Amino acid sequence: MITIKSKQELAYMREAGRIVALAFAELKKAIEPGVTTGELDRLAQDFILAQGGRPAFLGLYGFPASICTSVNEEVVHGIPGLRKLENGDIISIDIGVEINGYFGDGAVTFPVGEISAEAKRLLQVTEEALYAGIARARVGYRLSDISHAIQEYVESRGFSVVRDYVGHGIGKSMHEEPQVPNFGRPGRGPRLRPGMTLAIEPMINAGTHEVCLCADNWTVVTKDAKLSAHFEHTVAVTDGEPEILTRV
Ligand code: MG
Repeated sequence: MITIKSKQELAYMREAGRIVALAFAELKKAIEPGVTTGELDRLAQDFILAQGGRPAFLGLYGFPASICTSVNEEVVHGIPGLRKLENGDIISIDIGVEINGYFGDGAVTFPVGEISAEAKRLLQVTEEALYAGIARARVGYRLSDISHAIQEYVESRGFSVVRDYVGHGIGKSMHEEPQVPNFGRPGRGPRLRPGMTLAIEPMINAGTHEVCLCADNWTVVTKDAKLSAHFEHTVAVTDGEPEILTRV
């Protein structure tokens, strides 16, 4: 069942989303060659707790850290640790926050130092694809119109859409119905209604869309070891423009 959030529930989700956005602003200042992914995790955890939130990924399905850090060919769910970022890397960071029983979820891929022209383009196209999807999160569209807009935007620019992992409804749980794929034919699925809240999150690869799971049973990597990027916002469908909750 897709839940419709009340005004009060949306206010709580706005608060969770605000902390997600502010945590990204903190991390952005810290991302540079030499910093470890574990240091970024601690920074995010301390910041979220200081804001009165709870790092929602910590312990979720057994995940061992507060944020996911996925470097270069890592797609999602990378575990922070001793890895030092290097000039030219890209790092996808996924942050979930819970406050007052409501959740916010966002992801950003950051450049580390000076990155290649192809990497820059991948980041730009992935972020723009997210906004192409968000633009369809309106009354009058169906769920798969979001999916289709993302796929079309990405594939017409020569990149590929990860199939095995998808976006999701969000609210009183991190993962609610419906699933929000980043691919598919338009005009399918439930009609979008005010009060629906969706985490829209294109995961976009420079090469093949195929991915595999690493031996740690968490980290997802591209099958061809080419780069992958990930941008995500938690979005509320309203009577008018979509409201991005994970933004300040
Ligand atoms: Mg998500």
